Amino acid sequence: MTDMSYVDGNMLDGPLRELFAVDLSTATSRCQSCGTLGPLAGLHVFSHAPGLVARCPVCTDVQLRLVRAPDRAWLDLRGATFLEVPLPAEPTYHRPG
Ligand SMILES: [Zn+2]
Repeated sequence: MTDMSYVDGNMLDGPLRELFAVDLSTATSRCQSCGTLGPLAGLHVFSHAPGLVARCPVCTDVQLRLVRAPDRAWLDLRGATFLEVPLPAEPTYHRPG
């Protein structure tokens, strides 16, 4: 990399919201390389690549890539062990007697 400037992972919220109907600003991911668990907002996002490249703030390995074309998108999460998304509690159902 020649340009080391980045913005924080909060900027991923808008582009990823197009793919996921949940609020990802509070999602966490685990780095596949170093095991760091942290919020997506803590990733270092480089937007001057073909698409968005989000790197681990600890080891700088790539956790996420997002490329948008006019009619589709590619999401590469191979650098993250998992993505954990908080959801509202499941509704409880009352069964009749
Ligand atoms: Zn890492």
